[in-house]
Amino acid sequence: MKRMTGNLQSKADKYNRGGETVTYKLLIFTCYGGCATGVAASKACIRIWEENPDDVKIGCLPAVIVPWKFNEIMKKSAKRILIDACGVQCGKKLFKKEGMSVDRYIELTSTLGLRKAKKLPSEDLEKAIYKIVQKEVNTLLGKNLLQEEKTGKELLIAFGTDDGENLNNDHVGMAKYFYVYKFINNKEVRIEKRKNVAFKGNESIKHGDPKKAKATYSVLEGIDVLVGKKFGPNITRLLRKFVCVVARTQSFSNAIEAVNSNMGRIVEEKNKEGDRKHIVL
Ligand code: SF4
Repeated sequence: MKRMTGNLQSKADKYNRGGETVTYKLLIFTCYGGCATGVAASKACIRIWEENPDDVKIGCLPAVIVPWKFNEIMKKSAKRILIDACGVQCGKKLFKKEGMSVDRYIELTSTLGLRKAKKLPSEDLEKAIYKIVQKEVNTLLGKNLLQEEKTGKELLIAFGTDDGENLNNDHVGMAKYFYVYKFINNKEVRIEKRKNVAFKGNESIKHGDPKKAKATYSVLEGIDVLVGKKFGPNITRLLRKFVCVVARTQSFSNAIEAVNSNMGRIVEEKNKEGDRKHIVL
């Protein structure tokens, strides 16, 4: 991905040297073009904002032409990414005209070797564009480094399921089985199917009862991360033992992909001594 340099830097430098308080670690601008790559880019940006609420925000691209907004953007953002959905490069032209610099520039149709298509994106295109933008975001936030540092470490991740194909619909502790996968270097292999025997013997126990959390621990010995569609009030107890991941999807394959795409965040939570937070994917 390119960094926009040259004359664009001069106007921006005067803000970056000002020592102002930085509010946003990273602002993402996208042209939101009415085409498949534009819609997919906008969805990717929203998802990435949701996944990184403390670090990332979407910037208003047209606001760059308003002088006080330009000043605010330059003063408050540490880094910026600009995405154009097609080779017309409207965003790049606007930034160049106004003298706004960016740390990464992505033009999607040439990056993907596609022609601009005036239609909604396919699921595959959405995934591909999400990965392109996510990679650049992680690089600028220093998250790739964290992930690379941890790639030698394997994680045992359990998924709650009733049928082996989908995450169970009830609280994860009510799943009939836990399918255990070993994740290492962005690859996963299923190593075990554990029957949730502890749950079966305690069906009368209410949600949130500490005995129920204990029953879940006993089945999930040695597990690093627990993935489910829903967690009950016991999530605060479970977080002391595992990283808890709420996957907003039904299928295992989508849940596994989401876990692989967010391994940096998962490892970060795993390594926390206390005050672990659950992760929503
Ligand atoms: S770069 Fe392409 S998709 Fe984006 S606003 Fe311009 S013409 Fe539309």
